[in-house]
Amino acid sequence: MKFPPKTDTIMTYAFNPPTRVLMGPGPSDAHPRVLKAMASPLIGHLDPMFVSMMDEIKSLVQQTFLTQNALTFVVSAPASAGMETCLVNLLEPGDECIICVNGVFGGRMVDIAQRCGATVHQITTEWGKITEPDQVKKALNERPGVKLVAIVHAETSTGALQPLEEISDLVHEAGALLVVDAVTSFCGMPLRVDDWNIDAIYTGTQKCLSAPPGLSPISFSEAAVKVLDNRKTKVQSWFLDLTMVKNYWAGAKRAYHHTAPISSVFALHEALNIVLEEGLEARWARHQEVHQHLRTQLEKRGFRFLVDEQHRLPNLNAVFLPEGIDEAQLRSKLLDQFNIEVGGGLGAFAGKLWRVGIMGESATKNHVNMLTSALDELM
Ligand SMILES: *Cc1c(COP(=O)(O)O)cnc(C)c1O
Repeated sequence: MKFPPKTDTIMTYAFNPPTRVLMGPGPSDAHPRVLKAMASPLIGHLDPMFVSMMDEIKSLVQQTFLTQNALTFVVSAPASAGMETCLVNLLEPGDECIICVNGVFGGRMVDIAQRCGATVHQITTEWGKITEPDQVKKALNERPGVKLVAIVHAETSTGALQPLEEISDLVHEAGALLVVDAVTSFCGMPLRVDDWNIDAIYTGTQKCLSAPPGLSPISFSEAAVKVLDNRKTKVQSWFLDLTMVKNYWAGAKRAYHHTAPISSVFALHEALNIVLEEGLEARWARHQEVHQHLRTQLEKRGFRFLVDEQHRLPNLNAVFLPEGIDEAQLRSKLLDQFNIEVGGGLGAFAGKLWRVGIMGESATKNHVNMLTSALDELM
């Protein structure tokens, strides 16, 4: 095909996506109710019906984050923009912060914080391991007066689950704010924003929430809002500046800021309802149960987990393949012949391991059984 096409020919293209079984690091399979919500007719983004639905979404996000934070809403962009929202609003040029890095997403936070003009002190830990509270304690002692500490709860590049409570205490004793990436943990494993004293948190929609990608629920504590209110400089990003965006999501004073992605917001509303109908704790338990089943089935076939058992994510399983298998070839056969998607390794683990996701609607024993019987035919 030559581009641009000749002006006397009109080219149209039909695209019919295949029905895949999504078992990678996201997106996960969406519930039919969520897909149906997305196909609803458009309404205006300042239509009173849409505005009251936004208020419901705020309540649904507060319930799923387990927070009473007033500044809780949804950024109209993927989770990486939620990450950027937290950091650009809290950091000003010249600020110091500590960022824990044990995988891709900690590294992404470092990049963003540096672009904010902050001085970043990294706590670097081997991929697949967690950051230990002692490392944080030491870093805080060496750097008195840091503004915030940022950490990834569920590191999707390695499958490591980071305990947060002890670290949260240390951060607050030092007078800093705690910023948490909960993109992969949200709605798939215990996450308690208020109990754990998290000051700024962001997540995504396409992992354990099983909604389409492209939105990022976030929440700021009162302490974080105070830091925002006391900024000396303008937020570096126009689109992500919370001092303006928050008025778009705040009941009475609703003002035009940008046009919300209406269909995606419909889908998010439905997906959050589905989570609360199931119950958060039941949903966490389901992910754990399916993880145990997957683990037994994969270990039986010679797969080996990267992360120690006590710090393993239930929903993102990073596993080395049995000796002598070409992972890329097997992965593409799974996709081509069985419509099953699993993820490959990132960074140093590219070509070495798989990331098998069992998230949200994809966290069923049936998904695991489809994967393992396909593997039995292929291996
Ligand atoms: C997926 C993911 C992100 C980024 O989400 P996008 O929607 O791709 O921007 C950030 N952090 C973690 C831990 C993730 O798993």
